[in-house]
Amino acid sequence: MAPVQRIDGKAFAARMTTRIADEVRSLFDEAGLKPGLAVVLVGHDPASQVYVGAKHKATIAAGMKSFEHRLPAETSEDVLLGLIAQLNADPNVHGILVQLPLPAHLDASAVIAAIDPSKNVDGFHVVNAGQLATGQDALVPCTPLGCLFLLQDHLGDLSGLHAVIVGRSNIVGKPMAQLLLGANCTVTIAHSGSRDLPALCRTADILIAAVGRPEMIRGDWIKPGATVIDVGINRIPDGDSTRLVGDVAFAEAGHAGAITPVPGGVGPMTIACLLQNTLTAFRRKLPAKA
Ligand code: NDP
Repeated sequence: MAPVQRIDGKAFAARMTTRIADEVRSLFDEAGLKPGLAVVLVGHDPASQVYVGAKHKATIAAGMKSFEHRLPAETSEDVLLGLIAQLNADPNVHGILVQLPLPAHLDASAVIAAIDPSKNVDGFHVVNAGQLATGQDALVPCTPLGCLFLLQDHLGDLSGLHAVIVGRSNIVGKPMAQLLLGANCTVTIAHSGSRDLPALCRTADILIAAVGRPEMIRGDWIKPGATVIDVGINRIPDGDSTRLVGDVAFAEAGHAGAITPVPGGVGPMTIACLLQNTLTAFRRKLPAKA
């Protein structure tokens, strides 16, 4: 049997970022304007600090303006909403991302609802979710958008393929389902209430794992030749240290057609798609050409 093909999200994301940087440069030459991304971090969650740092670096590398707002953990909702109102009104800011999770005293839904949908580059606002669900032009959540790009790059036309998505969160599972429906897949969404998950997974031409449980999806749940996208990022103990694994038992997936590794698969695509969404939001604000 041919060895399983690794879908290299890191390389794909690097190519995407180069293309975005080229576009940013030529738009600056044409219009004298640069896209700006504001990222708001409340508190000191270590993983969030790493993500926010990575987003800042990527934004600068793409030639965009990066505005970082690091607020103390005890920030009140009024203060946070005040900052969002200021960013909504700022013409230099085209994208706004509030890093989740927020400290428990803050209502994430209210905070996301306060962001101008045209600047909501993580695509979590109900306006963007509704536009995606109804097939309108939306800012699409970055992680599932990255998964779609990888699938289309690897498989080409997805029409008629059966996609099984394990996980129904608002940030991954549900928007992933909408995107795959839009690409003419037949879509099944599985969750913690689904019956006989292994059998369901074995029917998948495309298997998306977005569960948050280390290596839950075993090799014998995967149909031979299937394309597997592992969204999971789980840190597990490894001797005296720790290591990252996905939601799929990678070592058992030798009979899959292709699989994204963890790390180096979906993760890098999320930031590349954030830059893509910021560029899209910026383009929509450019004055129409005469
Ligand atoms: P959530 O916890 O919000 O959702 C997990 C989903 O998995 C839920 O729908 C849940 O079902 C389902 N689930 C949990 N246990 C089982 C089970 N035993 N059987 C079947 N379904 C189950 O997670 P997210 O969607 O936010 O994230 C999923 C994973 O993706 C995590 O590992 C996260 O770290 C990673 N992630 C990676 C990103 C990246 O950039 N690569 C970005 C975002 C997330 P139910 O609804 O019934 O509870």
